Amino acid sequence: MGESSADVLVVGGGPVGLYGLYLTGLHHLKTTMIERLSSLGGQLEHLYPQKPIYDVGGFPAVTGHDLVEQLKRQAQQYPSQILLGTTARTLEAKGGLWHIETDHGRFAGRAVIITAGIGEFIPRRFNQDAIDRFEGRGLHYVVRDLSVFRDQPVLVVGGGDSAADWAMAVAPVAKKVWMIHRRDQFQCHEDSLAKLQALPNVELLPRHELVGLDGDQEMLSVAHLQHNQTQGITRLDVSRVIVAIGLVPGTTIFHDWNLTLNGHEIAVNSAMHTNLPGVFAAGDIVSYPGKVKLISAGFGEVATAVESARHYLLTAPALEMSHS
Ligand SMILES: Cc1cc2nc3c(=O)[nH]c(=O)nc-3n(C[C@H](O)[C@H](O)[C@H](O)COP(=O)(O)OP(=O)(O)OC[C@H]3O[C@@H](n4cnc5c(N)ncnc54)[C@H](O)[C@@H]3O)c2cc1C
Repeated sequence: MGESSADVLVVGGGPVGLYGLYLTGLHHLKTTMIERLSSLGGQLEHLYPQKPIYDVGGFPAVTGHDLVEQLKRQAQQYPSQILLGTTARTLEAKGGLWHIETDHGRFAGRAVIITAGIGEFIPRRFNQDAIDRFEGRGLHYVVRDLSVFRDQPVLVVGGGDSAADWAMAVAPVAKKVWMIHRRDQFQCHEDSLAKLQALPNVELLPRHELVGLDGDQEMLSVAHLQHNQTQGITRLDVSRVIVAIGLVPGTTIFHDWNLTLNGHEIAVNSAMHTNLPGVFAAGDIVSYPGKVKLISAGFGEVATAVESARHYLLTAPALEMSHS
């Protein structure tokens, strides 16, 4: 595929990139979106399409999939080029443009907005054979279909917002839900905790850790928990386990882009500028004091990034050749 040029290259078609695509369209900027997966929507579409989201303005509750559909409809009001199944690999400044090398050719733009989120989606795993051998037999690191929990006894492992959201999502259909966390306090929103405590079929077990699973060739049937103070072992008869203990950052591609990083994240200022002229970033991939990894925060950041890109396109001199 030959090189084509745009006003703005958007790297990553998650919720934040999609909202950015709408905003560049609103300003009639010629935009190319580069998305490594075969469909848009980022974590919402690929990690939790059926989970309700309660904290996006204007939506009392919306599933990951439905929010992505609305974002796509909003963005598609304007023409743009969307490249699916295309991973952005390198960034180079040449001839007054930024050039992104992908596995399907090179793409050029005057400005770049990076909305690549957590990069690849790699759920944090136990990496213990006693547990992981049941993946596909009742053990879920990713939940795409809530119907498999219907009438089942379910264990949710994790004490944060994702674990609490899963417990709340499966409780109405499951026979019983236990949620365990290794600390003495659950870390999720107070409201989620209050709602879970009020549900008759949900039991919260702080200071418990999953130490093993048993079952047969078909399905797991027992979870072994250990109380991390008393060391006592509890046996739970469960047929489904959801593990929500976080995601491993998969953004190493950007480590070679000459960006200033803060750990795995790209450092930005309050205008969402990176250290490179004409390169902006927003969403889960950015780092600045006070950053929160929420969809609503990403929407605000990408609105700022698009405004900064517009300003840059109107005022900036041609790029120096030295940035690569
Ligand atoms: C289980 C779970 C539940 C959650 N629940 C909520 C919730 O209720 N409310 C809330 O506000 N937040 C929630 N979050 C967090 C929310 O999903 C993220 O904040 C949000 O997805 C960030 O959006 P993003 O567009 O920045 O990144 P992502 O959603 O990660 O999208 C980034 C996109 O960039 C693509 N990409 C990455 N690298 C490249 C590359 N090199 N080239 C091309 N494309 C690339 C990825 O494939 C992906 O599609 C939850 C997260 C999880 C895991």
